[in-house]
Amino acid sequence: MRKIFIYFLVLVFICFAIPIIFTKEFSTRTYSQNVDMSNSNNKGALEESTYDYDEYNTIKLLHVDTETIEEIDLDEYLYGVVSAEMPASFEEEALKAQAVVARTYTIYKVVNNDGKHGEADICDDSTCCQAWISKNDRFSKWDEDEREYNWNKIVNAVNSTQGKIITYEGKPINAFFHSNSGGTTEAPIDVWGGSGYPYLQSVSTSGEDAYSQYSSEAIFTKEEFKEKIKKVHSNFEIDFAEEDCIKIEEYTDGNRVKTIKIGNLKLSGVEVRTILGLRSANFKITITDDEIKFEVTGYGHGVGMSQTGADSLAKEGSNYEDIIHHYYTNVEIVDM
Ligand SMILES: [Zn+2]
Repeated sequence: MRKIFIYFLVLVFICFAIPIIFTKEFSTRTYSQNVDMSNSNNKGALEESTYDYDEYNTIKLLHVDTETIEEIDLDEYLYGVVSAEMPASFEEEALKAQAVVARTYTIYKVVNNDGKHGEADICDDSTCCQAWISKNDRFSKWDEDEREYNWNKIVNAVNSTQGKIITYEGKPINAFFHSNSGGTTEAPIDVWGGSGYPYLQSVSTSGEDAYSQYSSEAIFTKEEFKEKIKKVHSNFEIDFAEEDCIKIEEYTDGNRVKTIKIGNLKLSGVEVRTILGLRSANFKITITDDEIKFEVTGYGHGVGMSQTGADSLAKEGSNYEDIIHHYYTNVEIVDM
């Protein structure tokens, strides 16, 4: 009889007490996480209220894939940008530089909204504005044992630089950045034409050749090559028997191809990069019997901060402010 009573008590415990313990533990944990997150944000805003963070507290982000606009807290947005744009394995000071650059780029877009994205301030396409990834998607691409560590590193890069932006003559700069400069960055006039960005000048950084983004190759058959150019320039003609059928005519200050003669065309290095899908406009060409080989240095347009360059500078002891001043000329880092 007593035995049955004990069994009964155990059964009651299993049915009621255990689920309560688990539910409670689970909900407390989830809750405290949320509380921690919002606390850290609020704390920043309350304790460092020397700048008006409220005006730009939320931004309207266009998700290109779903064509939806999300209103998102600026810092939350920046966690997603930094984790999409820079490997979490990079130095903390490089991540901080990326956070300030991404924040500046965002504020520039908000302040100078050209209506390109309708109601939205900015989109999540890296080839248009800057990349962004949700926390869930980011986590699914990291190994389980490194998720918390990586995420905390990124959150810290954003939070420890909260409200900081880069200005030139008191206004937020158009803070372009790219993956790898190949050693020297580029002035925007040589990439997009036009001027008006005195803070974006060609500068050199050592150590970028240590990264996989530094060099790449692209090989085309002569037929492929002709087809790709003909798609854009239907009048294109080339005779590969001619000695100078492809000839680089001029280089930019940043060592990239400025103009190149290809058959009957004279193109910019930037256009050749686009047509052939090269990683940068810094390339050498070798023509063999059947193929055309491009040896490409660097990755991206080359304007503004190089991300691998930032990491390289951080490894040599530069802090995020040094890195920003290296890539953007005569700028200030200020609280918003
Ligand atoms: Zn965009």
